[in-house]
Amino acid sequence: MQSELQQLNNAHHLQPFSDNKALAKSGPRIIERAQGVYFYDSNGNKFLDGMAGLWCVNLGYGRKELADVAHQQMNQLPYYNLFFQTTTTPTTKLASKIAELAPAHMNRVFFTGSGSEANDTNFRMVRRYWDLKGQPNKKTFISRANAYHGSTVAGASLGGMDYMHKQGDLPIPGIVHVDQPYWFGEGQDMSEDDFGIKAAQSLEQKILEIGEENVAAFIAEPFQGAGGVIIPPKTYWTEIKRILAKYDILFILDEVIAGFGRTGEWFACQYFDLKPDLITIAKGMSSGYQPIGGVIVSDKVADVLIEEGGDFNHGFTYSGHPVAAAVALKNIEILEQERIVERVKNEISPYLQKRWQELADHPLVGEARGLGMVAAIELVKDKSTNERLEADCKGGGICRDFAVANGLVMRPCGDTMIISPPLVITKDEIDELISKAKKTLDDTANFYGISTTD
Ligand code: PMP
Repeated sequence: MQSELQQLNNAHHLQPFSDNKALAKSGPRIIERAQGVYFYDSNGNKFLDGMAGLWCVNLGYGRKELADVAHQQMNQLPYYNLFFQTTTTPTTKLASKIAELAPAHMNRVFFTGSGSEANDTNFRMVRRYWDLKGQPNKKTFISRANAYHGSTVAGASLGGMDYMHKQGDLPIPGIVHVDQPYWFGEGQDMSEDDFGIKAAQSLEQKILEIGEENVAAFIAEPFQGAGGVIIPPKTYWTEIKRILAKYDILFILDEVIAGFGRTGEWFACQYFDLKPDLITIAKGMSSGYQPIGGVIVSDKVADVLIEEGGDFNHGFTYSGHPVAAAVALKNIEILEQERIVERVKNEISPYLQKRWQELADHPLVGEARGLGMVAAIELVKDKSTNERLEADCKGGGICRDFAVANGLVMRPCGDTMIISPPLVITKDEIDELISKAKKTLDDTANFYGISTTD
């Protein structure tokens, strides 16, 4: 019997990325409150949030300082826009703070309400840049298969998810995709290093095929998040850097997940030693307490837009929203004061990754990988062949259901189970996460009749 709220939900709420018919049957879980790395549903169940919401609640739940600053800003100035030759204090301070943390060649920020809007901004800003440079033919964006760059028309087109392209006739013209560096899924007939170079070279092949004079930019996540926490082989970024140095195209690094400490650096370009022209940001910027995103813009791009551009006819009602900006600013201040990024790098990420590797011994796990505060396991039926649990990769969903029953949120991407916990998770909480993950793997093995004892 579904509750009154569940029935109201079924009648009136169309939910994102959901089969609303199936959801109406089961009834959505109603999340009521949260504290630290845990949240609670309306039936009193407690969950360890191994996904930090949707990769965003980096500071964990229940930080009163963030609520207080939102309250204060709402009382003082709940809204004003940035279109009418105006700005607000928290918006400008946030831009300046982000520029201080970003690599030295990046000094400006364009704000949006989300990561998707930020990638739409990239799409328009990059084309505008090439127009202003007198090279209007440079229009094509090169992205990668199985990338995630958002759900708006440009975001989903830049993304490389077939299941998204199928809905709404995407990608739109001017966006093409090259290989992803997914060694476990696509490269096991080669060494990881060789595969990394091969995947990177698909970018060069595409540039040559389209013609450098027609290519606007290459966009990539530093590690693919929604695609399954895919961490490129060591050789990959080195080879991509060689290619980017050779051709006159812009480089957009989508750090919506990776930015603001998840790798143990403020930005993943620092972790991987990359020099992007544009960085997409969102999620961890405000720890998800307020919706806000943006693009960090290099001097190379900003100088052209500013010096030669006149009006840039782009922006959103909620670009740089003062309440969201105040919360983001406070969030960054806490990250700094509590030295959370350093703690990730020196203490908590090494601990998480060491314990996560224990899962590699489980009979159901073909590979355990991770970096910073993200990690993945590949579910297999047979470790010697890495054959999947089921041909259609349904095993991940089964495993997720056992995880939920065990009070742990892990997310399936096909047969890859992923985590991205709050950066503030403690060692004890990591121990709990690992023991719940082990129990979940045992339950899943049991479901498939696979022995866990030998
Ligand atoms: N880029 C990446 C890498 C993401 O992971 C996401 C969201 N998961 C987005 C863009 C889109 O962000 P939003 O959902 O805020 O639009």
